Amino acid sequence: MLATQNAALASPTQTRWAWLRRSLWLLPLLASLLFVAGVLIWAWRSDSAEREDRRATLIADALSSEAQLRYQLQVEQAHLRELARQLPGLARNAQGLARSAEVVDGLRRLWLSVTWLDANNRIVAHVPEQGPQAGAPMLDLPDGPGLSAHLTQASGADRLVLRYSPALLLRRGIPWWLTRKYDVQLVDSNEQVIASVDQAPLRTSSQGREGYMVVVGDDMPGAYLELSLREVPSPFWRSLPLVLMAGFLGLMLVATLLLRRQVARISRAEGAWRTEAAWRQAMEDSALVGLRARDAEGRILYVNRTFCHMVGLTPGQLVGLAPPMPYWPPDALDEVMLRHKRNLEGRAPRDGYEALWCHQDGRRLNVMVFESPLIDAQGQQTGWMGSIIDITARKQLEERERHRAEAMAQQSRLTTLGEVASALAHQLNQPLTVIMGYNAGLQRMLADAGYDNQAVLHALAQQGEQAAEAGRIVRRIREFLTRRGPQREACDLVAVAQRAATLLQRDLGPAGVQLQWQLGSSLPQVFADPILLEQVLINLMRNAADAMAGGAQPREGGNTLRITAQRSSERFVRMDVEDNGPGLAGRTVEQLSAPFYSTKSDGMGMGLAICRSIIEVHHGGMDAGRSSLGGARFSFTLPVFDVQMQQARLDDEDAQALLEGAP
Ligand code: ADP
Repeated sequence: MLATQNAALASPTQTRWAWLRRSLWLLPLLASLLFVAGVLIWAWRSDSAEREDRRATLIADALSSEAQLRYQLQVEQAHLRELARQLPGLARNAQGLARSAEVVDGLRRLWLSVTWLDANNRIVAHVPEQGPQAGAPMLDLPDGPGLSAHLTQASGADRLVLRYSPALLLRRGIPWWLTRKYDVQLVDSNEQVIASVDQAPLRTSSQGREGYMVVVGDDMPGAYLELSLREVPSPFWRSLPLVLMAGFLGLMLVATLLLRRQVARISRAEGAWRTEAAWRQAMEDSALVGLRARDAEGRILYVNRTFCHMVGLTPGQLVGLAPPMPYWPPDALDEVMLRHKRNLEGRAPRDGYEALWCHQDGRRLNVMVFESPLIDAQGQQTGWMGSIIDITARKQLEERERHRAEAMAQQSRLTTLGEVASALAHQLNQPLTVIMGYNAGLQRMLADAGYDNQAVLHALAQQGEQAAEAGRIVRRIREFLTRRGPQREACDLVAVAQRAATLLQRDLGPAGVQLQWQLGSSLPQVFADPILLEQVLINLMRNAADAMAGGAQPREGGNTLRITAQRSSERFVRMDVEDNGPGLAGRTVEQLSAPFYSTKSDGMGMGLAICRSIIEVHHGGMDAGRSSLGGARFSFTLPVFDVQMQQARLDDEDAQALLEGAP
């Protein structure tokens, strides 16, 4: 299936190449065909050249044979002439003629007969004697057995007619080696055989054989000398080398078919191997376990995709790398190198070991590494194969669990503290009430006595107010700690902040803190408990004043505390308390508001924790960061008051009352 998908994804060029590679088995056959074609062309050309040579030789032989033949005839003509010259001295009868040495020699050579004719063409004598009788007319002269030819020679008024055998002429005139090679014949213009060197003329069987005819000449008018090759040369494609070639081609064909079968088998095996490799690759890449193979020296041989994702490097950047690895934490190189050496020596723990690695983006990750020997096809160990599991999430979970346990411990301490504070508030309430009672009584008594020292009376009035305020605070804190919900109502956040600033005036003034107000226009009221909000603002402002007073040198431009109020969204109002103190040095609001976290020698570390709880109880949020003044910024948001909220609160309170009234 994967192979099919790969094939579907392959480009046309790749498909062409694959097709070419698959057809390579045809190459030897094509080469053999080319070779055989070359040999055929060569054989055909050499056969043509040979045929031309043979033809030229044939023509030359025919011409030379014709010359020989003519020479022979001229010799016979010369003998006949000599006989004619001797004729007057001979007796005019057959015996006289037969006694002539020329006649005797001639008959021994090739003469068949010699006829002596007178001026009236009457036979004077005829040798040999069994021929026509003297006095017979020439027309009666028979040709005798076989074909013959004549030569004539005049001698005065008489005439000599010499009859000779053209076959004998051929046998005597043509050299033996030519007659072995050629069938030599004399033919007339109708291609009728006149004479042949062979006993039986081959005219009929010479069809298709190569031959050549030449005119014999005046001595034999109308006759042609024909030379035909005795052997019909076999066509070049029937020669032994070509037969061998055909055999070779056949064998080549068989070999190619076998090769094709083998190639098909190999292709199938290769295809199966590719599919298997693709499966393996897909499995390795989809595995959530990182895989890393190293040689005996620790050089990386292979990494899978998960491993690359873990360390943020590509296989190209990793494969071939030797220690130290780029994913080792730079601050613990020595320690990791020692562990690496231990692993290469085969002393890695069997149940794995934990390590800390670095992603390329600087992120740290906790991993669990399991090393196992890397065995090659010969069963030899060539290195180590590591399976790596990213346990960062697990570690973080463990860490969170630890924090949660710590937080729970803190919480229980806080609860205890809450109980103590609640008890304390309860205890303080009475003395405060008593103080207020005494203060009111004292004021009344002084008034009744007509005492009019305004400074004392003002101090007493202030004392009463502060005691009442303290009582209110203690009561609210008690209510808060005893888990009774805050007394939420529509309140003006800016007015609350200004009241907090007034209460803190005694702390802010001597510290030379400049208060800046940045208030958004037409700010809506918020739905909150003004007393608790006041505590929040007092705490934030006092912290800012403490932070600004902390520096050894007085700040250039003085200490500034800026309070900003604005509507942050449709449903929330936001307030920022900023200073130009030393700032938070990157600490988050979570760290700062952890219970008992304090950097002050006399600090308790509960201020911000309580502030955050109060804000969150009011369905708001708290944040801290860097201020544009250069110091710290603490911000909180509170929900805008609307009538539905009021109704919801009343419903809550009714529900609470019902619950509390329940047995
Ligand atoms: P405490 O005031 O008792 O230390 P808090 O919870 O109010 O406890 O504050 C916790 C810590 O937060 C302080 O000790 C201080 O280090 C830091 N902090 C609070 N406000 C500021 C500020 N405005 N500038 C710098 N640090 C601050």
